[in-house]
Amino acid sequence: MGAPSPAAAPTPTVTPAMRQYARFKAQHPDCVLFFRMGDFYELFHEDAVLAHAALGITLTQRTKGVPMAGVPYHSVEPYLRRMIDAGYRVAVCDQIQDAAEARGVVDRAVTRVLTPGTLVDEALLDEGRTNRIAAIDLLGGDPPAAVLASVELSTGTFELLDLPAARVVDEVVRIGPSELLYAEPADGVVPPVIEQIRNLLACSLTARPPWSFRQAEGRACVQEHFGVATLSGFGIADDDPALSAGGAVLRYLRETQAPNDDAKQRLGHLRPPRRQSMDRFVTLDATTLYNLEIERTMRTGAVAGSVLSTFARCRTSMGKRLLRDWLCFPLRCLEAIETRQRTVAAIIEDRSLADTLGAQVAAVQDVARIVGRVSMGRATPRDIVALGVSAARAPDIDGLLDGRPAFTDALQRLRAIAEPLAALGASIERQCVADPPAHLREGGLFREGVDAELDEAMALQRNAHGWLAEYQQGLVSDTGIKSLKVGYNKVFGYYIEVTHAHTDKVPDAFSRKQTLKNAERYITPELKTYEDDVTAARSKAIERERILFERVCGDVASESTGLAAYADVVAELDVLLCFAEAALRHGYCRPSLVPEPRMDIRQGRHPVLDGALGERFVPNDCVMGKRDKGTEGQTDEGDDGATLALITGPNMAGKSTYIRQVALITLLAHTGSWVPAESATIGLTDRIFTRVGASDELHAGRSTFMVEMTETANILHHATDRSLVILDEIGRGTSTLDGLSLAWAITETLAARRCRTLFATHYHELTSLADEHDNIRNLHVSVREWGDKIIFLYRILPGRTNRSYGIHVARLAGVPGATVDRASELLETLAVHTGESVPPAPRPQQMSLFTEYIEHPAVEALRSLDLTALSPLEAFDILRGIQERLQDPGGPAP
Ligand code: ADP
Ligand code: MG
Repeated sequence: MGAPSPAAAPTPTVTPAMRQYARFKAQHPDCVLFFRMGDFYELFHEDAVLAHAALGITLTQRTKGVPMAGVPYHSVEPYLRRMIDAGYRVAVCDQIQDAAEARGVVDRAVTRVLTPGTLVDEALLDEGRTNRIAAIDLLGGDPPAAVLASVELSTGTFELLDLPAARVVDEVVRIGPSELLYAEPADGVVPPVIEQIRNLLACSLTARPPWSFRQAEGRACVQEHFGVATLSGFGIADDDPALSAGGAVLRYLRETQAPNDDAKQRLGHLRPPRRQSMDRFVTLDATTLYNLEIERTMRTGAVAGSVLSTFARCRTSMGKRLLRDWLCFPLRCLEAIETRQRTVAAIIEDRSLADTLGAQVAAVQDVARIVGRVSMGRATPRDIVALGVSAARAPDIDGLLDGRPAFTDALQRLRAIAEPLAALGASIERQCVADPPAHLREGGLFREGVDAELDEAMALQRNAHGWLAEYQQGLVSDTGIKSLKVGYNKVFGYYIEVTHAHTDKVPDAFSRKQTLKNAERYITPELKTYEDDVTAARSKAIERERILFERVCGDVASESTGLAAYADVVAELDVLLCFAEAALRHGYCRPSLVPEPRMDIRQGRHPVLDGALGERFVPNDCVMGKRDKGTEGQTDEGDDGATLALITGPNMAGKSTYIRQVALITLLAHTGSWVPAESATIGLTDRIFTRVGASDELHAGRSTFMVEMTETANILHHATDRSLVILDEIGRGTSTLDGLSLAWAITETLAARRCRTLFATHYHELTSLADEHDNIRNLHVSVREWGDKIIFLYRILPGRTNRSYGIHVARLAGVPGATVDRASELLETLAVHTGESVPPAPRPQQMSLFTEYIEHPAVEALRSLDLTALSPLEAFDILRGIQERLQDPGGPAP
């Protein structure tokens, strides 16, 4: 050991090791420094106090007034993970010289800096979650633009994106980085957009010097790293503004991950940046992902119960991560969707293919991340063996898919790489044992016959074992102590053990080593020599294995491009298998995607509730937009030309479920998945918006009317006739009058925009809009009254409801009978809702105000009468119609 162990006596002067410590700490002031000393990583000063609090490890003192805490080096990973999870950055300082060879203090260096976005070790990551780091550059301009770069260091993907500044928050949330880099403004204040992202994602923010975001810096950095004079070969113009963010992220990775200037090797798995275009994907903003519970549920934030968990039966970690991305990034291009659909169909049709392919895919380990760990010098023997087995599968998968047109896309990519991967796999399998040790330091990864030097060292160890048995035999007969044993223990090494009863027979040549409760342990010069030989042979073997291991890692690194492509193909097949299986398991149908903006869902279900309720879930249709001439007649209850549906009905009747299910079916259809319906025709969609009114919003801190209106404004600005808009109880967060007026105006605007819109509302007044706009329809959820109770039927029917049933729901919810009765009484006298069948009572002030505010349709009817063109009889008819309508405002329009 080159440095004092934690138990070393306090030294009054600063030791050389502590001087080293101070130097590294000064180089990484923003990090908690784990400082290797012998078998421990030690933390000092304030870091020790932090670690004590975050990890619960014992706080001691190195010298008086120097707090210290430590963890054993071999189990450091879980501690590192907990520090990162607690929001700290960690620098790991290792001994980079054999302590035995050190003259004076052992050489040390910071070998890695761990930040939330740059983790690569298996123990530090969730296998099923992508862990990205992103850099954002807000460019300004009119309209303001921004560029974004994101890297997943563990797998080496690198993407560039440009987008309007207004969409930064939504897109960053959708990409979901765990760390975000931004240029530190002169005043040091975190820009509001960045702050907003942090609040939504709980990601860590890293301010970087503004110069590292300069476009020219970025271009130079990327060109240098990938060893090219121009980036055009990657499909990126050298003056691409996104290179500012791209360069910033790359520079950061080089600084943190390759502090010792070995970036090209350490980051050798980083793929060249790829230009991503947002137009490829259906736009889903952060609120929509949240409202539709794609990744987690609204109420608890748990993954269980989310859409993701309904599908999550992937066989590989790579598939799990891709599934999340596919659900969050549905495709906009018909051809791309149909390519996925063809594969899903082929899997569904051929069960034996599905089984074989499933088994092949399941045998592929996390190749994407293993390749990353290999470049980063963090691979373990198990990684290499797993990679070998996985690579060896490539030709089998290739052969299985051969000649199947539905898999052309996967095959084209596999074809080129199958052979070299098979060779790599075979080479690893030939060299390495099938069940390797967890750590290289344990030895035993390589097979016999692979390397002569290793074999020799191993033979030495084996021969030594034979010697040991003979030695024990000889001692037993020499001393006459039958129970004498020669043994080994990790701390004390080799020993001869004699029980106390026989210690008087022990020869003088034995020297005492250790006393136990019922035995003494001894050592002899011969045994000591033996021990030294064995130790030498073992360290020789381990050193040799390390060299061989590096060679194999080199072989893997030189195939990293092919391995990355293989990982992509396998992940895609895995997700497509998952889609096919979900379709079979839950009885989904293949949606037909059409260019015209319409929708015809028959017997649609909500994917999550359907799974939870099973038989009890009531399916519903949704028909919107112009039908094709060809399908005319098949759809009988559908509404021709409707683009906006107002859904009314009592609380708890199923309104929210219905409108969300339509959004989810639309979303799933764009991922290439089958959908929970009997049949579904979905017009290609550019954006899906969902807004949930303040009082339906469960999440604390978001329930302000302002948020609701900001989000609604966003819809009104951006919805096109290709968009789908889902509104749930919008307008509730304010007074009835305000809310109704806003809801009314919003409905009119969206109807004029002709985007497909479903609006669940308790404002019954809105239903009269259907009378005036040919593309607005009323739908209601049916309930049956039974005495003073109501039974929910969950069936969506055409037309409006005229009662809100709130009082019945209160009774169902267990509000005490007397209170409910009193409420019924009040309802009689107040009769707030215009359509109620209760006798007209004095209306509250608000409602009379409201009647002035929105003109009764009768007034417009009167105003638009052309009296010169009417006969007296016609005029009389019209007047009677208007009078009837005024007596029964909730009834059908004249
Ligand atoms: P609303 O928005 O009208 O208040 P929800 O959509 O929130 O009602 O539904 C309330 C509950 O009713 C759901 O939690 C679910 O248990 C049940 N439910 C909703 N739709 C259906 C359906 N189609 N089939 C069966 N149960 C349903
Ligand atoms: Mg609701």
